Amino acid sequence: MRGLVIKNTGSWYTVKTDDGRTIESKIKGNFRLKGIRSTNPISVGDYVQIIINQEGTAFISEIEDRKNYIIRKSSNLSKQSHIIAANLDQAFLIVTINYPETSTTFIDRFLAGAEAYRVPVVLVFNKHDLLNEDERRYQEAVIKLYESIGYKCVTVQATAEIDSEESIEKLRPLLAGKVTLMSGNSGVGKSTIINKLLPNVNLRTAEISDTHNTGMHTTTFSEMLELPEGGYVIDTPGIKGFGTFDIDKEELTSYFREIFKFSESCRFNNCTHTHEPGCAVRKALEEHYIAESRYNSYLSMLEDKDENKYREAF
Ligand code: GDP
Ligand code: ZN
Repeated sequence: MRGLVIKNTGSWYTVKTDDGRTIESKIKGNFRLKGIRSTNPISVGDYVQIIINQEGTAFISEIEDRKNYIIRKSSNLSKQSHIIAANLDQAFLIVTINYPETSTTFIDRFLAGAEAYRVPVVLVFNKHDLLNEDERRYQEAVIKLYESIGYKCVTVQATAEIDSEESIEKLRPLLAGKVTLMSGNSGVGKSTIINKLLPNVNLRTAEISDTHNTGMHTTTFSEMLELPEGGYVIDTPGIKGFGTFDIDKEELTSYFREIFKFSESCRFNNCTHTHEPGCAVRKALEEHYIAESRYNSYLSMLEDKDENKYREAF
């Protein structure tokens, strides 16, 4: 029987079978995955084969290849990693222009990580109601920038009534039938948004709010929350980005879409766009085809790379 792993609590995995049952499952024997040294061989989002036993529980006998997955390194030195989620269709990055301020550097690092993992991102600008005139104008400019690069942007107000122009109801069609990772800085409104999207029977968001109130941000296990319109959201409290990823300099360029586009005209094909003659990226920057904020984010990630730092990709 094929199923989707929707929850992991230590040694038990909750598997939603293709015929709609929810079955508590365990891994059979010594189950190891090729190529990944992970503290959890199976994560939420994995498609597995299970063998159901007489007690109504099951053994996981097989795992299907993943189209992508996000990991967290257990520590900088350890080669062990923890798989947070597999087979994401997209990520929603919840941002707020203010209360709290989300920096463009944070957005760009998240986007670069998402490009590296080939996960499409929708930028969701929340707390529209709290912005003054200047902040609204600034938000519009930020949205224009990211739309011009090719990212979908939506403005919402998570605390608004249903009929508001910024209602989170407009997120539903974007979520339907997909597996979506919900990300963003603490305080931007992730729990509020998830809470509104889920049917009342789901108690999970209450736990999340509690976690926030006590200032604790460590949750070892992720969970997929089923949406009424089909699809799932993955909430990973305490995890803000795509984790560490190791990339070479040329690759970094390709994670900034518009910079990559111009880099094809650079004189040297290993151009880092910092000092080289004939650099089409710096020319585009001067002519304002590339935003300074984007170029600065690129430089800051390049610098991490130079210092050979293991950095969180956000
Ligand atoms: P999280 O840390 O990202 O999960 O953020 P929360 O969902 O806990 O929200 C943080 C605070 O912002 C809470 O007090 C929410 O009520 C408030 N909040 C969330 N969305 C909005 C919004 O659109 N407008 C306003 N004014 N407050 C909001
Ligand atoms: Zn260049």
